[in-house]
Amino acid sequence: MSSSLQDKYLSVRKSIPAHVTLVAVSKFHPVEAIKEVYDAGQRVFGENRVQELMQKQPLLPADMQWHVIGTLQTNKVKYIAPFVSLIHSVDSPKLLTEIDKQAKKCNRVIDCLLEIFIAKEETKHGLSFEEAEAIFNSPPLPNVCIKGVMGMATNTSNEQQVREEFKSLATFYNKHKSAHNLLYMSMGMSSDYQLAIEEGSNVVRIGSSIFGISPRK
Ligand SMILES: *Cc1c(COP(=O)(O)O)cnc(C)c1O
Repeated sequence: MSSSLQDKYLSVRKSIPAHVTLVAVSKFHPVEAIKEVYDAGQRVFGENRVQELMQKQPLLPADMQWHVIGTLQTNKVKYIAPFVSLIHSVDSPKLLTEIDKQAKKCNRVIDCLLEIFIAKEETKHGLSFEEAEAIFNSPPLPNVCIKGVMGMATNTSNEQQVREEFKSLATFYNKHKSAHNLLYMSMGMSSDYQLAIEEGSNVVRIGSSIFGISPRK
């Protein structure tokens, strides 16, 4: 019998087309809840704090794929380098260089997305389109692979504005996609993932619609 958490997960899962990757954002939620969603079939999970991820990862099944979606400090990269499967939040050349260095120590190539600032909100951050373009045009680093872009829209009920912000990221992604073999455009959260998918997103990061509103949010 499925739990109500599993039912919520399955209904979100059903609302997402098959070509779109669902990242279940489990930040602030306990390993027991994460395991229930895993048992319902989910394998890709996202966390935004390194320390929390470090605590949870060893307690959960080894075939889970962990994505880092939040601001990542360079001095914390070493902790996640051995196992992280995708970093969505590369927001500086310096961070990319550090990921390369730590990936090399682990004898891995770490997949990354460039986080781009598309919102009209000061609380959101990321690279400008120009800065992201400069990274695309600089020599590739051997132990990182840039697989695409990530963006967060303004937290507003103005649907037109959210759509415009998603469109701006989609335009940038499509411009660079073939030259750089990009595969992923990560945009859309609980409140706006349907819009994001309509604008071309193929990776959505969904937390509260699956796990509920966390006490620390
Ligand atoms: C928390 C978080 C999400 C998920 O947000 P919900 O509104 O709970 O779906 C997505 N992306 C990032 C970067 C986050 O920090």
